[in-house]
Parts: sequence; C-alpha cells; structure tokens
Amino acid sequence: MTTDFSTFTDIEKHALTKGTGGYLTLDLGALCANYLLLQKQAGEARVSAVVKADAYGIGADKVAPVLYQVGCRDFFVAHACEAFSLRQRLPADASLYVLNGLMPGAEAACADQNIIPVLNSADQIARWLEVAASRGERLPAVLQFDTGMSRLGLSPEDREALDCEAIKAHLDVHFLMSHLACADEPSHSANLGQLAVMREISAHFPNAAVSFANSGGLFLSPDFRYQLARPGVALYGGAPNDARPNPMQPVVGLHVAVIQTRTVPAGTRIGYGGTYVAATEMKLATIAAGYADGLPRSLSPRGAAWFGDVRLPIVGRVSMDSIILDISALADGTLVAGRFVELIGPHQSLDAIAADAGTISYEILTSLGRRFHREYL
Ligand SMILES: *Cc1c(COP(=O)(O)O)cnc(C)c1O
Repeated sequence: MTTDFSTFTDIEKHALTKGTGGYLTLDLGALCANYLLLQKQAGEARVSAVVKADAYGIGADKVAPVLYQVGCRDFFVAHACEAFSLRQRLPADASLYVLNGLMPGAEAACADQNIIPVLNSADQIARWLEVAASRGERLPAVLQFDTGMSRLGLSPEDREALDCEAIKAHLDVHFLMSHLACADEPSHSANLGQLAVMREISAHFPNAAVSFANSGGLFLSPDFRYQLARPGVALYGGAPNDARPNPMQPVVGLHVAVIQTRTVPAGTRIGYGGTYVAATEMKLATIAAGYADGLPRSLSPRGAAWFGDVRLPIVGRVSMDSIILDISALADGTLVAGRFVELIGPHQSLDAIAADAGTISYEILTSLGRRFHREYL
C-alpha cells in the first residue's frame, strides 16, 4: 500500500517537498513579545539583546533587525566577527558590543566599523587606548569587572591599577559591566555577593551607567537592573530561572519526519549496541533527525517525541541521523512514513527536552541543526 498523502497537513506536505527531515519554526512575533515583556520587567532600565552564537541558533540576521524594529538599540555578540557581519544588517545607531573584548589584531577593524569592545583586562584597555591615541579620536568602550564568576573582566588588582585619567581622556565609556554566575537560581547567595561587589565598583565611578542583569538577573530584585539589561535565552523562549513557571513565549518549534515504521517481537534488540531489548511486541518508528541535528545522545532513554497528545518514548541510542521511537500506544496506520512528530512544541517545551537530555535550553538552542528546514513566522 502506498502512502495516502490526503491525510497529511499542509506543513507536512510542504516540508516533504523540501526534502528535509526536520521542520523548524522560528516565531519572530513571539521573539518581539518576549522583548517587550522583558522591557516591562526591566522598568526604567534599557533592554539590549544578546545575539551571540547566531542568536542562540535562531539566526542573528533575522533576530537583530526585528528586535531593532521594536526598539532595541544595543546588541551583544561574543566574537568581533559576529559584530562585523551584523554591522551590515543594522542601522548606524545600533550599538554592537563584543563580549570577548579586544582580541589582538582586531583593533583596527573594530575601530573602523564602530564596534564597541567590552574591555576585560588591563591589556585590552592599553591596546584600545593606543588605537585611540594613534587615531586622535575618543573611542567607545565598555569596562567589564569580575564580581565573582572568575571568567572575564578586570580583577580587583586590575581595578587598583586602572589609569582612570587616560580612560577619561581617550575613551567614551558607555557603561560598566559584570555578569552573574547564578542568576537562574534566585535564592543563591552568590547573587547578593556579586551585587555587593558591583556596588563597591560603581561607587568609584559615580557617573557611569552599569549593565549587570542577564535573563535571570531581570527576575531578581530591582537592585540588579541598573541601566542596561542583557537578556539572551529569555528572548528565545527559555526560562529565565528555575524557580517559577516560564513567563516567556516559545519561539522555537521542531517537528521531525517519520522515515519508516515496523513491528518487532519480544526480545528484539533496538538501535546501536543493542542496549534496548523489547520486553513485549513493540511498534517502532524511525525518525529523520539525530545527534548531528542537535538532539543529544543523552536523550536516550529518557526523552520522547509527541504525535497529537500521545507521548512516544525514545528507545535505543540516538544515532547521528535518526532516532527510534516506541509508537505502540498509537493505533496501526496512524503514524506512517512522511508524517511529522513533535520534538519541541506545545506538548514538549524547549526546557523540557533540555531537562530530558540532562542539559540546559541554551545548549539545545545553539545546537539546532543546520539541515532542518527553517520557517520564520
Ligand atoms: C550570554 C551572556 C548573556 C546572556 O545571558 P542569558 O542567560 O542568556 O540571558 C549576558 N551577558 C553575558 C556577559 C553573557 O555572556
């Protein structure tokens, strides 16, 4: 019997004509709604957008211009090259900040393209001052301080040694900055510890604006908001913290095609390594995405896909290009080759699949496969 396409949804038919195993929807309307919700949450503070790692896998080329339209003027990336490419896509009044700061060799390109480095070390400051001196211009900059994460930023010793006069004379410091290590755990004592250090630092620069809060930080007390917030994951629908229900709208949806179905008798080994053995007769479906598409191997044996309201557990190991599902709960003929099952959607949130994989939403988002058909809504 050949496939009866008349029962397929329009999306399934469309995806199949693209020859894709996975259909990724990226809801730019939800993205904007999330930006506006965060703006409301931020009160008086301005809200930037962290669009590093291709806007957490969603597509910085699409995300940044849309957020600009709803009022965002400040964009953070990790690497200078990400800023160079976004510079072409955004109007001149958009500020582009490089979180990794000023890597040796990138100074001229950053200055030429009005890219603002987040200066993390005495060396980065010294090199940016040299560029300013050699060009005879004041250059824009952000100063980052380590307030307790030990990742990036000036140490207490660097702070003591800062040449504030030179900085005042040659740099236009947009704001001071630091990053919270535990903002996703609102009750973690490290949050208040970092705030105390940030207060001490900002007391030395009484007129300077401060940027402190990431997504989680915006949902801590108002003391963390300062003048500019830097949310990333919450814009893209991830939960800002683990303490209360996620207030953000989902941005990403993922559906994956069924390649083949079969029925196997009790005792049959399933998948690589034969690690899963059918205890009874089972109906299986093999779907067209695997760890090469960003669905981690750690999803077996805890994860699932959904068809309608029916949960279909993952059985056996996740392969590079495919995953095997237990579809015994479905009536025969319901799920046939060419139909799509939900991996991220109304039945299974981004945070839920991340938890099943033993990871965080950030890692799932930034691993979303390049092979999926992408539909921006
Ligand atoms: C990634 C990053 C952010 C955004 O963090 P989220 O938790 O995604 O909101 C903000 N600031 C810095 C320095 C970052 O590295």
